Amino acid sequence: MKLAYIGGGFVGTCSAAVSADSGHEVVVFDIDEKKIGLLGSQDRDVIESCLYEEGLGDLIVRNKERIKFTTDRKELALFLDTADAVFMCLPTPEIGETGESNLTYYMTAAREVGAVLAHRNNGEQSRYVVVVNKSTVPIDMISRTGAVLEEAGVKNFGVVSNPEFLVEGKAVKDSLKPDRVVIGAQFEKDFKIMRQIYQRFYDSPTVQYIEVAPEEAEAGKLLANFYLFNKLAICFDVIGRTCEAFPGLRFENLRRVLTSDARIGGWGFYDSLYAGGSCFIKDARSLSYQLQTKGFNTVLVNETYLANKRQLELFLSRAEKEALCDWKNKNVAILGLAFKRDSNDIRNSPSIEITRFLLEKQVKKICVYDPVAQENFKHIFSKQPAVEYALHEFDALRDVDVIIVATDWPQFRGLADSLILELKNRPLIMDGRRMLQHRYEDLVQNGFSVVAVGSPFYKAAV
Ligand code: NAD
Repeated sequence: MKLAYIGGGFVGTCSAAVSADSGHEVVVFDIDEKKIGLLGSQDRDVIESCLYEEGLGDLIVRNKERIKFTTDRKELALFLDTADAVFMCLPTPEIGETGESNLTYYMTAAREVGAVLAHRNNGEQSRYVVVVNKSTVPIDMISRTGAVLEEAGVKNFGVVSNPEFLVEGKAVKDSLKPDRVVIGAQFEKDFKIMRQIYQRFYDSPTVQYIEVAPEEAEAGKLLANFYLFNKLAICFDVIGRTCEAFPGLRFENLRRVLTSDARIGGWGFYDSLYAGGSCFIKDARSLSYQLQTKGFNTVLVNETYLANKRQLELFLSRAEKEALCDWKNKNVAILGLAFKRDSNDIRNSPSIEITRFLLEKQVKKICVYDPVAQENFKHIFSKQPAVEYALHEFDALRDVDVIIVATDWPQFRGLADSLILELKNRPLIMDGRRMLQHRYEDLVQNGFSVVAVGSPFYKAAV
């Protein structure tokens, strides 16, 4: 089949690559020329310098005959003339004050696609086309999308909701072997087309292929994200805090006690300074906004959002309160800039807020390191001479007063020996991910003080 993807970000590119791998002919259209240039380079490393997702570069290169990246509207129009489906993969960020979804990107793209579709087949519009929403959107989006397309003069079309459940860092794996595919449609005709597109998953015994109403698909995505976000908030704000309050408790032991209950489950059971990323925060705020407009109580939804927000403030405040650290003129290292491991995505990454906090506190130097996210970080702090970029994690740590571990990159787990052997000045360690938890006692015995999420303050023994 012929499938167009509008928006070549994480969702658009990963889904398009999997569709190409399923044998479809695919075009990805984006307005960002630089991104399209990198993604269309047919070079694995160049592709992954743009979107770091394990296996993405290989998948795109392997399917290069069936996947094209373009910013050319004429090329898109030509393709849409005979396309079977158009997948909308646009950003839907929150509006700061209210939390409402900002649908500007989506609607702009929908109007543009509508204008092209209205002229397909020499204006006859003889070929049926499905417009599929993959963005995470408000629950009534199906009717809004339909209205925009009708306004543009589009006929002979269907609108379908197909929310994306991929997890960044595992996006390709998740998209090749999803646990579910959710399709929300009003008409059998549209369900049939979607079954053809997703034949690979429709026939799979390991994939739950779920057909529901469009509103249920949209709500299912928002609620799934809220549920997971709430689990994280409980883990950080209740379990982590309990472990900080009682010195006899070790977070990892409590994890074993709790997660052995199948009803609790193991996902997300890691203490952290903050849950960042592009989805949980904005989707919880969007859900809250939508419930409020219907007159419902949103205390729990709001509190989940606030509980996450206060983790970072609490974590940073512990340096001053417990380790008596005065930030002014200090040299600080931040290990990890991505919002989580295996990704170069820095949207809502704690490292951004930490850097802003440190600059406000007038530290002398912030030396940062991340294996893949440094280029993205540079765009945000390009005009800050106090922010320096290390080529290797250990280079970031030389001559600093404080080390902050902000991302759970696995390699940070192995740092303790080098810290003990090489850092004679014994900087304060602030472990925002418990990456060094197996060595806290050693570090303390060797003269380091440690502030770690999920542990009381460890004061240096010597
Ligand atoms: P993204 O920011 O990575 O990508 C969006 C792309 O759309 C960008 O490349 C941007 O240049 C492009 N774009 C903006 N306006 C455009 C236009 N008018 N025409 C063509 N392209 C345009 O976003 P994403 O992470 O891929 O997320 C997309 C949607 O999917 C969001 O609603 C998000 O909530 C949802 N989602 C994201 C994830 C995730 O893990 N990232 C998972 C599930 C769902």
